[in-house]
Amino acid sequence: MVRVAVVTGGTRGIGAAISEALHKADYKVAATYHGNDVAAQKFTEKTGIAAYKFDVGDFNACKTGLAKIESELGAVDVLVNNAGITRDGFLHKMTPEQWSEVIHTNLNSVFNMSRLVIEGMRERCFGRIVSISSINGQAGQAGQTNYSAAKAAIIGFTKALAQESASKGITVNAIAPGYIDTDMVRAVPPETLAKIVGKIPLKRLGKPEEIAAMVVFLASNQAGFATGATFTVNGGQYMA
Ligand code: NDP
Repeated sequence: MVRVAVVTGGTRGIGAAISEALHKADYKVAATYHGNDVAAQKFTEKTGIAAYKFDVGDFNACKTGLAKIESELGAVDVLVNNAGITRDGFLHKMTPEQWSEVIHTNLNSVFNMSRLVIEGMRERCFGRIVSISSINGQAGQAGQTNYSAAKAAIIGFTKALAQESASKGITVNAIAPGYIDTDMVRAVPPETLAKIVGKIPLKRLGKPEEIAAMVVFLASNQAGFATGATFTVNGGQYMA
């Protein structure tokens, strides 16, 4: 039986690696994105994975987007909540927009997408929900009260939903990556990034494929006893 997986923000960075790894593991994959049509088109041409454009922070857009995915690929068995953005600034300078945009995309999205797939998963007595948190949700990060709050909230959400869903064969887990080599991290000034890498025991950035491998494991039948957990993949930078 071929399972259907949806990866939000699945056309670039970590999400693209997750989409590709699930595709290689024989899932039918839908990768979602928001604005970068060029990247999405390139991704689909390269991988053959269909891309779906909608804002994961908007409940009704998710409802319409998921209905399209389910009509084309089938009911969703695996949801990977990966889409995320940063809008950095110290709190004393942060605007309400910076706060709301990050909560909208990184946290409300997790409610929206999970809420829309959970009933079907409960009916079918199988499901896997994996949400991408962050080292900065575990350790905190100056300049990222918005992002750290959203990423920490994902960990609490994961534990609560795991408790609600265990009896229905649904596992719910989070992954907290450290600094991974993607566009998001390349936006950090090089001297700041060099300092960060200097503090990572493994002395390098992570690769998107190293997060994708953990997702493939958590989506598998073999991971059926793992739920409500946060898996830390950060080169030893923060030992949670
Ligand atoms: P990228 O910026 O490389 O990619 C982000 C993806 O999310 C893109 O596909 C983007 O779509 C999509 N996206 C952004 N906003 C929305 C939205 N409103 N609706 C739908 N899709 C959206 O990010 P990364 O790959 O670096 O990060 C992926 C996840 O991992 C994020 O949640 C991030 O917080 C987390 N993370 C990343 C770390 C890192 O070091 N890179 C470390 C720890 C956690 P589009 O292409 O259209 O813009």
